[in-house]
Amino acid sequence: MHFHVLTLFPEMITNGMSESIIGRACQKDLIHVDAVNIRDYTLDKHKKVDDYTYGGGAGMLMQAQPVYDAYEAVCKKTSSGKPRVIYTTPQGEVFTQKKAAELAQEEDLVFLCGHYEGIDERVLEEIVTDYLSIGDYVLTGGELPAMVMIDAISRLVPGVLNNDDSAQTESHSNGLLEYPQYSRPEVWHEKRVPEVLMSGHHANIEKWRLEQSLLRTKERRPDMYEAYLREHPPVEKKKNKRRKKTTGNEE
Ligand code: SAM
Repeated sequence: MHFHVLTLFPEMITNGMSESIIGRACQKDLIHVDAVNIRDYTLDKHKKVDDYTYGGGAGMLMQAQPVYDAYEAVCKKTSSGKPRVIYTTPQGEVFTQKKAAELAQEEDLVFLCGHYEGIDERVLEEIVTDYLSIGDYVLTGGELPAMVMIDAISRLVPGVLNNDDSAQTESHSNGLLEYPQYSRPEVWHEKRVPEVLMSGHHANIEKWRLEQSLLRTKERRPDMYEAYLREHPPVEKKKNKRRKKTTGNEE
């Protein structure tokens, strides 16, 4: 999978994506992260890429020309020639695990990082396919949001995690938060690891984990819990049986 990041601060991306799991995935050629410096494409002799906004107001705006030319150069490097282009913006749809899974299916993804007041609307209209936000707050630039999304998407690319199964049980993958987890020692600060996890009884462990996930989700994210219950309504077999019996006696 190939990520192309259009940015005015390419070193933020190359430094941020070179460590740990994502760094190793790049070294193994499982993913590629190319930081493309938008400034390299400006036709301005002073290498300027921003200007004042029409109509007045505070701050500078990134101009259309360098962004468009950088985009065209990247398109030529992709297999389809017309990759999905994500503009990271606080005005976008909020990025979720579901969105990460959808985007992980793409061969190439372009991330467009704004700075200052953002980017001239006309170029956004021409090239952007997805407007995505990482939350309802405003950052100084799109580089951190792009890295957040690239990290979440890359974890879903086969081979990036040592154990691909772990991505399937983690929070948000099945509409629930993950259960609590413990490692050695068995007792720490007088707190003992729950007995069931030491039992080796896999069915009981699974049952306990699901219960804990449900409890945790209900407590920390009631909105997610409600949505989960709507999709997985509790089975009421026993109740129905009892109800039948009662009706029988009455007759
Ligand atoms: N003037 C813009 C507005 O009010 O919508 C905000 C511009 S912000 C200061 C500069 C850049 O940071 C944006 O163009 C965007 O790329 C990025 N950015 C800021 N907050 C973000 C968020 N919550 N999610 C994604 N990108 C964000």
